[in-house]
Amino acid sequence: TGFAKLGITGPLLKTTAAAGFDAPKPVQEKAIPPHLAGHDVLGVAQTGSGKTAAFALPILTKIIGLGSKRSPKTARALILAPTRELAVQIEDTVKLLSKGLHISTALVLGGVSRGSQVKKIAPGVDVLVATPGRLTDLVRERDLNLSETRWLVLDEADRMLDMGFINDVRRIAKAVHRDRQTALFSATMPAEIEELARGIMKDPVHIEV
Ligand code: AMP
Repeated sequence: TGFAKLGITGPLLKTTAAAGFDAPKPVQEKAIPPHLAGHDVLGVAQTGSGKTAAFALPILTKIIGLGSKRSPKTARALILAPTRELAVQIEDTVKLLSKGLHISTALVLGGVSRGSQVKKIAPGVDVLVATPGRLTDLVRERDLNLSETRWLVLDEADRMLDMGFINDVRRIAKAVHRDRQTALFSATMPAEIEELARGIMKDPVHIEV
C-alpha cells in the first residue's frame, strides 16, 4: 500500500487498513518519512488533514519494538493538545491504530477526576495524551515523571498559544528527555510559535499541506 512506501511496516499496516485508511493523505506522505528517519517535524496542517496518524504511526512504529517493561509514572510518548475534545479524539485514533498491539494509552485532562488519571499512569504508559494544565499539575506533584519520554508532540500549537498554555508547554518540554524527537503541528505559524519551535526543536524538517 501507500503506507508501506512511506516506511510503515508489519502490524501497523494491518491496523491502518483496518481503520479504513486506504491511501495516505498529503500530510502523512510529507511527515511520516522524516519522522521515521528520526527528524523533528514542524508542520503547518489544518484540523481534518489527517495529521493525527501522521505523528501517531511513526511513534507507534518505534514503541512497538520496545517491549512492555516501563518505569512507574513514566510515558514513552507525550502528545499535548489544547482541548479535552481534541485530546479524546487523538487517544481514540492512537487506540484504533494500535489495536491488538499491546500499546497502553492514557488521557490526562482538566475537569475530570485526577485520582483515576494518576492510577492509570502509575505503572507507566506507552502513549499519554494530555492538555497542558493538568499535565503540569501532575508533573509538579510528582505523579508523572517525563524524564524518560522520548517522543513529544504539540498538536494545534497555535491554539495552545491562544489559550495561554505557552509557558506550561515550555516547562513540559524542559521536563521531557533532552534526547527526544519532537513534532509540532499548527494551523498557522505566528512568530511566537516559530520562536517556541526554535527553543524546543532540533533542526526540524518543515512541511506544509
Ligand atoms: P485528523 O486530521 O487526524 O483529525 O483526521 C481527520 C479524519 O481523517 C479522521 O476521521 C481520520 O480517521 C481520517 N483519516 C486520516 N487519515 C486517513 C487516510 N489516510 N485515509 C482515510 N481517512 C483518513
